[in-house]
Amino acid sequence: MAADFDTIVNLSKRRGFVFQSSEIYGGLRSAYDYGPLGTELLRNVKDQWWRSMVQLRDDVVGIDSAIIQAPAVWEASGHLSSFSDPLVECRSCNSRHRLDKLDDPDRCPTCGNAGTFTEPREFNLMFKTHMGPVETDENVVYLRPETAQGIFINFENVRRTARMKIPFGIAQIGKSFRNEITPGQFVFRTREFEQMEMEYFVHPDDAPRAFQEWVEARRDWYLDLGMSPENLQLRKHEPDELAHYAAEVYDVDYRFPWGWDELEGIANRTDFDLKAHMERSGEDLTFFDPETDQRFVPYVIEPAAGATRTTFAFLLDSYREEEVRGETRAVLALDPRLAPVKVAVLPLSKKPDLVDTTEKVAAQLRGRWQIEVDVTQSIGKRYRRQDEIGTPYCVTVDFDSLDDGQVTVRDRDTMNQDRIAIDRVGDYLADRLPG
Ligand code: ATP
Repeated sequence: MAADFDTIVNLSKRRGFVFQSSEIYGGLRSAYDYGPLGTELLRNVKDQWWRSMVQLRDDVVGIDSAIIQAPAVWEASGHLSSFSDPLVECRSCNSRHRLDKLDDPDRCPTCGNAGTFTEPREFNLMFKTHMGPVETDENVVYLRPETAQGIFINFENVRRTARMKIPFGIAQIGKSFRNEITPGQFVFRTREFEQMEMEYFVHPDDAPRAFQEWVEARRDWYLDLGMSPENLQLRKHEPDELAHYAAEVYDVDYRFPWGWDELEGIANRTDFDLKAHMERSGEDLTFFDPETDQRFVPYVIEPAAGATRTTFAFLLDSYREEEVRGETRAVLALDPRLAPVKVAVLPLSKKPDLVDTTEKVAAQLRGRWQIEVDVTQSIGKRYRRQDEIGTPYCVTVDFDSLDDGQVTVRDRDTMNQDRIAIDRVGDYLADRLPG
């Protein structure tokens, strides 16, 4: 079981991971701002995804496409006609709900009355705005509801310029926007969020193999970054659940405090998107394989993950409370690759000599890792703060350091302390931390 929901929401606010957006104006529902620690954590999640999907592979390249694209993109992809959820309104309390997410489709979860819902209507989730100074129907544009279409419309540009041969992938990380009917559960479902998506183009006959490979690779990514296996599951979509474009889908689900819910979907999207864009644009998006002398429209395997949602899951999953010498210690046991701060450098007291030496130690480490220097409060309180934000190592400068040139390095998980010469601290940490 993951950590308690309220514990993580409180920790997020108290320590500066995530704030309610526009808080000084009373807050904007379902919008969140990432604070100093949350920004680092989110960035680390995205960097780890990019590293595994792009940098460690020779068959995947990245792009960064525009959030606002030609409306024809959304016509072709089917988003304009069918990217919608069934909306019902309660006649008794006027609350609105997404019908397919209700436990009881006949009972309003807000007021508890039964039989009060209006007939469901399909509500399109795309945010609309106008491009340019005139607000006419011709100027309507949409904020992208997924990053994937920006990849499909650049398929030929990327293939040609990066000289890619099938099978190959195009990855993208970026913001997406959905006017969700019922946002909620903190950053799990928001109207503005970040996605990490990759489209892997394959020969149609190769699609089932590539699909299996990506399902496993994606599950392993979460496990490799320390997510508890008992909180992670793969779930195959039933035929009646499949999106109109998909031949096969697996979700990577996390055991959230409210139950299993999706972190990522891995789909065999067939040739649906490339064909749709070929038809609408008139451009040739086929691939010619000179080895087999064959021309075909590639199939696409898509691992589509949420960066903000995954960040939340890592927070929940890494939180522990332990009894240490009669006191409760709260720890974020984050993998060091994800930890927002890698090393805290702490003088035992605010005495100028100690603070000077602390600055010298910090200067050696800064630039190699995200570090924090903290001089306030008792050393015990500072250790507790670093444990609670997941800092893997604390380096403490004490009075002996001034004489023997050594500092104490404390390990977050074992709480073991090693005495290390100041000029060796960098090497000591380099053996234990990612570069
Ligand atoms: P749902 O059915 O829960 O609305 P979905 O299946 O439509 O979601 P996808 O279109 O597959 O979601 O999006 C891929 C990933 O993007 C999701 O697995 C999730 O991690 C993330 N995501 C989608 N919608 C949101 C949202 N509103 N807030 C945060 N993350 C989201």
